[in-house]
Amino acid sequence: MVSEQQIWEWLEDVFDPEVPVLTVVDLGVVRDVNIAENEIKITVTPTYSGCPAMGVIEEDIRRKLLSEGLTNLKIETKLSPAWTTDWLSKNGRQKLKEYGIAPPEDEVDKSVLFSAPLVVPCPNCNSRETKMISEFGSTSCKAHYNCLSCKEPFDYFKCLR
Ligand SMILES: [Zn+2]
Repeated sequence: MVSEQQIWEWLEDVFDPEVPVLTVVDLGVVRDVNIAENEIKITVTPTYSGCPAMGVIEEDIRRKLLSEGLTNLKIETKLSPAWTTDWLSKNGRQKLKEYGIAPPEDEVDKSVLFSAPLVVPCPNCNSRETKMISEFGSTSCKAHYNCLSCKEPFDYFKCLR
């Protein structure tokens, strides 16, 4: 009999297709693992409802758990409450930065609400002198920035609400 703990550990091997250093657990998209009598239910919340990566994530979760011998899997998508960047684990934020993507900042979220200009610190040199080059980076979930201090381009993981 498999434990929920074991399933969480297996999920640590499933990576986000967009940011391959982050696991689905780091990303916070796996909301619940529930073992019932004859069914294992995994509840996932997409980073945003239009995210094309989400189908891939569900498929990867299913493939991983099937490879561990689990059958009777049910993957349920839960849209509410909506995913926010607050669900990114501390570990996940650190990994994003090491990967060269500026992690979402809480104060940035608020500035979006008031339409103030975004200040996104550079993940390379921590300078706050950065400039958004394009609203869409390598994927629609990221914006592309340039650092005015070290001149390095970087991606910003957008706050998706
Ligand atoms: Zn920089």
